[in-house]
Amino acid sequence: MRIGIIGAGQLGQMLGFAARDLGVECVFLDPSDQPPATACGEVIQRPFDDPAALAELAASCDVVTYEFENVPVEALHRIEDEVAIYPPPGALQHSQDRLAEKQLFDHLGIPLPGYHVVDTREDIDAAVDRLGLPIVIKTRRLGYDGKGQFVVREQADVDAAWQTLGGNDLIAEQWVPFDYEVSCIGVRNVDGDTVIYPLAHNVHEGGILRTSRSPVDEPALADTAEHYVRTMLEHLDYVGTLALELFVCGDTLLANEFAPRVHNSGHWSIEGSETSQFENHLRAILNRPLGSTASIGHAGMVNLIGDIPEAARKIDDAYVHDYGKSPRPGRKLGHITVISDAAAARDKFLDTVHRTVTQSSS
Ligand code: AMP
Repeated sequence: MRIGIIGAGQLGQMLGFAARDLGVECVFLDPSDQPPATACGEVIQRPFDDPAALAELAASCDVVTYEFENVPVEALHRIEDEVAIYPPPGALQHSQDRLAEKQLFDHLGIPLPGYHVVDTREDIDAAVDRLGLPIVIKTRRLGYDGKGQFVVREQADVDAAWQTLGGNDLIAEQWVPFDYEVSCIGVRNVDGDTVIYPLAHNVHEGGILRTSRSPVDEPALADTAEHYVRTMLEHLDYVGTLALELFVCGDTLLANEFAPRVHNSGHWSIEGSETSQFENHLRAILNRPLGSTASIGHAGMVNLIGDIPEAARKIDDAYVHDYGKSPRPGRKLGHITVISDAAAARDKFLDTVHRTVTQSSS
């Protein structure tokens, strides 16, 4: 068995390590020099939409998948008659445009924050009238980790928002005073068998995920999130891993966005679940039986962003993952996972790791 993976970043690397454990070979397509997945397979160093490289992937692999959201959909269409591509390109198309994504949530009855399409400066005024303040203006495409976003807190911010983001296709969203954020990860194989991971509670710093902890002791919220994810997986005739990010507002969950791929908020599953999200993604696309998503203890994960302080490498009983990337401010370079017997002990351990990581960061 040979799997083609478009993208060779850290998600590709973690998929590659899981593939090795399953005895499956991976080949990656990525234009970067020495990307993280170099550690676990051949990397075809060509652009993502390079016709010859795509043809090579299609001809030499049993199935093709991708590890990031901005894969050009046309590239997938170019090879979809020759090789199975999972998750389905239709799911990717929805996730690449915040408007299409929100329309999908609406269509499936998944609650979400109020939104308003913004094409002109006047549309922002209309959004303020309709949604009230504050609102957040986001680019519809190519935004990630909070990039391409502007929070309009008062009327006076509208001009600056337009100056910063005008010229792009935009969308305005109600600013949600959420209690906290969660994500729900589901996996569906070719036969339609589905497994769902316990909820993860996620904390972002500056728009970038910093910590995740799982499970979350909120059975009613977990049931609701599971229902939303199952609805999406069925509707999209999905194959692979999908992550849905949600805002918790009291008893209500509001969908923020989804990712048609393995997700940073599921990294804890490598040590904290009977089957990791990476292994289950591979099982799904190879149409193998999916593994149990039962938790092993209480897991916490801290992202290593910008640099990996020496002290972070020396924490007893913590699992340090270094993706082998060169340091750069705001760049995800690795993560640390901790596992404890109880939630309180996990939270304490996670706080210590978080402090070690951020205090020693330059
Ligand atoms: P996004 O790239 O849309 O996932 O946004 C990154 C982070 O910004 C989210 O995980 C939230 O912490 C915050 N955020 C985004 N949209 C909203 C919103 N409408 N209301 C409140 N916080 C938001």
